Amino acid sequence: MRGVGLGMLMARLRNNGPMEKCSRCGLNYSAKEEYCPHCNGMSEVELDEFKEKIARQRDGHKSLGNIFYIAAIVLFALIVVIVR
Ligand SMILES: [Zn+2]
Repeated sequence: MRGVGLGMLMARLRNNGPMEKCSRCGLNYSAKEEYCPHCNGMSEVELDEFKEKIARQRDGHKSLGNIFYIAAIVLFALIVVIVR
């Protein structure tokens, strides 16, 4: 699961050119590439699993974002209390 995220990040760092959205897996990839590097060569079953993995990862990022949001509010409240 980690590997997918890191791979996506690396792909994003490596390719500064125009990006294209893959019609199969929905991920972005460099327009320079002929095939989507994320799902190229995958069977339909593998693609479904891959898409599920991506969706789960997105949910994970969302909840992580919420934690940071809550932490920021708590920190802000603390600062307000201390300053007073
Ligand atoms: Zn793809």
